[in-house]
Amino acid sequence: MPGLLGAPGAPAQPVGLPSMGTASGADLSPALERRLGEAIMVQGRRDPTYIDDTEVIQYLTVMGRKLAAHAPGGAPQIEVFGVRDPGINAFAMPGGYIGINSGLVVSSDTESELAGVLAHEIGHVSQRHIARGFTQQNQTGTIMMASMAAALLAGLAGGVDLASGLAAFGQAAAINQQLGFSRDAEREADRAGMEMLSKAGYDPGGMARMFGRLMNVSRLNEGRGAGAYASTHPLSIERMSDMQNRVRAMPDLHRADSDDFWFVRARLRVTQALDGQNLRAAVQQLNNEAQSLSGVRQAAARYGVALAEIQRGNTAEAERALAQAREGYRDSPQIARAEIELASASGDTAQALQRADAAYKRWPDRRILGYLYAQNLQRSGRHQEAMAFLQERLKAWGDEEPRLYQLIAQSAEALQQPVAARRDMARYYLAVGALPAAVSQLQQARNISSDFYEQSQIDVEIREAKDRLAEERKLLERFRS
Ligand SMILES: [Zn+2]
Repeated sequence: MPGLLGAPGAPAQPVGLPSMGTASGADLSPALERRLGEAIMVQGRRDPTYIDDTEVIQYLTVMGRKLAAHAPGGAPQIEVFGVRDPGINAFAMPGGYIGINSGLVVSSDTESELAGVLAHEIGHVSQRHIARGFTQQNQTGTIMMASMAAALLAGLAGGVDLASGLAAFGQAAAINQQLGFSRDAEREADRAGMEMLSKAGYDPGGMARMFGRLMNVSRLNEGRGAGAYASTHPLSIERMSDMQNRVRAMPDLHRADSDDFWFVRARLRVTQALDGQNLRAAVQQLNNEAQSLSGVRQAAARYGVALAEIQRGNTAEAERALAQAREGYRDSPQIARAEIELASASGDTAQALQRADAAYKRWPDRRILGYLYAQNLQRSGRHQEAMAFLQERLKAWGDEEPRLYQLIAQSAEALQQPVAARRDMARYYLAVGALPAAVSQLQQARNISSDFYEQSQIDVEIREAKDRLAEERKLLERFRS
């Protein structure tokens, strides 16, 4: 265990990264690092703790990219996703993929606090601490990386191995934790993070407050709650005063939290309640907030109650809570989404479609609303329209939204286009890096097709996918030894 608080007398330099400037990071070029991150994500997306929610992903990723735009020295394309876990933690994986526990969002009192932890993680990414940690020789990193590479290779070997998928994030977070970050690395990430935070318009004090709270919590409650985070990123009095000094030297930036923050926080409070008892506790908490707060925070709390009631199948209560959420506030894309889902939960597809149509027209930048519109077109049997809409979204959102291909494939299947359906599924698997599944879909498409020209096109696609698969194997083999 590295010195938890870095107090004098604690084991000094944590098992950690070498001092800055060593060459080990050079083993992993940014392009290879990205591929490695992708390979972990292929499995991670099947991890039951992965929060597969377009709204949450879009909110976190937009925040991450806003921060990364100001990363000193630049940063790779940042992808941020939520992890269903009430523990306060965040972890960075190779290639710019960052996982944020739901517990971190729920325990943030302001948006700048959440942004502060995210900025610190991006600081580790932009300073290439992650790449160094994963490729470090003669350290715990080598052994852990080898076992991860073996699991990823097993995944590439074909047969979808759910068990290795389950462990993907656990392993990535464990590697972060096993390595710990050195004090130098922490200081670098703090400095880079603080700069990003203020340049992106957040309150730099948020970072100092959040880390201060994490330090207090981990002191009282070692191993639980914030313990995991504090053991990965050793907190110390020096770090805290360094941060506070920087905040004092910065112009006073008082930034209002976005409404989105409160709605996403309320959603995640419900998402992370896995059983009836925890859900009751979450509803209790949200009801208290609804009674004691006003404005957007009150509306968001009521919205959270509505989500919990939808989950419990109490549609009447959900409807009441949503109506209250609108009172004294205004329309919001989140409330609109919940109303669409409520109509679906009540079995009224026509109403869900009508609501989704109106909501998407009003908030076209909210991808979740576009998905709900397409899905409700599909449920209404209007596959031609769904197909046209999805194709158009594909042009706008590109490969950022591989799920579009999945939905296109569903409509193609319904429209009796089995070859196109399999090729679109293959595109989906290629976009998320699940290569064996892509090859298998293409082979099925090849077998069904009776058009010579189409067959030769598919042959080319199969060859390309197989080449990529072979390259990926070679990459992972390098880390196994
Ligand atoms: Zn750190």
